[in-house]
Amino acid sequence: MTRTPVIGRFAPSPTGPLHLGSMVAAIASFVDARAAGGQWRLRIDNLDSTRCRPAWATSICSTLEAFGLHWDGAVQNQDSRRGLYAETLDQLIERRRAYPCGCTRREVQSLGRPGPAGLIYPGTCRGGLPPGRTARSWRFRAESQPVAFLDRCHGHQTVAVDELVGDFLLKRGDGLHAYPLAMVVDDAELGVTDIVRGADLLPATAPQVALQRELGLPTPRYLHVPVATDELGRKLSKTNAATAVDPRQASAITAAVLAFLAHPPPAEFDGAPPGELLEWAVRHWRPVRLQSRPGEEAFLLPHPL
Ligand code: GLU
Repeated sequence: MTRTPVIGRFAPSPTGPLHLGSMVAAIASFVDARAAGGQWRLRIDNLDSTRCRPAWATSICSTLEAFGLHWDGAVQNQDSRRGLYAETLDQLIERRRAYPCGCTRREVQSLGRPGPAGLIYPGTCRGGLPPGRTARSWRFRAESQPVAFLDRCHGHQTVAVDELVGDFLLKRGDGLHAYPLAMVVDDAELGVTDIVRGADLLPATAPQVALQRELGLPTPRYLHVPVATDELGRKLSKTNAATAVDPRQASAITAAVLAFLAHPPPAEFDGAPPGELLEWAVRHWRPVRLQSRPGEEAFLLPHPL
């Protein structure tokens, strides 16, 4: 029996330069795909033009190149794919799995219960728009049947999407298609077999799997890797001014990220070019080592970098 060729991907949002937190996802997804002899694709998640800038996308691509993270094929850009997201939403509307919602964000904030993936929509418009209300957004009608999937680090997950996530957004009040819809369409088109990303996205996975099933799309394998935080436990992301990665420190950063991913390169690789460190990691990649790690961990860079 021939095994489906592995296709991994990295999907940064160009809202700033590549930072250490995203570098962990970039390196983990790259090494995981290459270790399986697979392709590594790049998608720019630039759906939200109010937050994303083409200049950041250019900067992310050149940083990846400088780190020896060379992707296969053309870059997929979400902003050129809106027509496809609209068609997918139409399919869901036709099948009555999407319904219009007239609630404002404030109403959802005041009535929704907190859940692991954000506020749980209270279901106000599920049975039809209340009189006098107009549709602002579109939501997925979550089923009571739980969604099950396997995460290679966190094991079997069974999630009652209706209770824990609720009827999530497919199209937002500002007219943008929501990320779960866009990403399942995009990953399916790229033929992604393996999604490797930060564990902060584990709670977002079940709705994505529910959508894949509804659309008849294959469910990839998942590997959610530990999320890098600072010493105070804050996620290293652009919101708390996480350090942009500096290509002049590519060797030290790559070694530190691999150590964070439970694959510290041996001492003889000290100062080696990032491409060589990545090659070493590809040859020695055992993602099972990540299983002993918590979901979030302080990212300790060697000092001075
Ligand atoms: N653009 C998303 C992010 O940067 C990617 C999430 C994913 O890998 O699915 O958080």
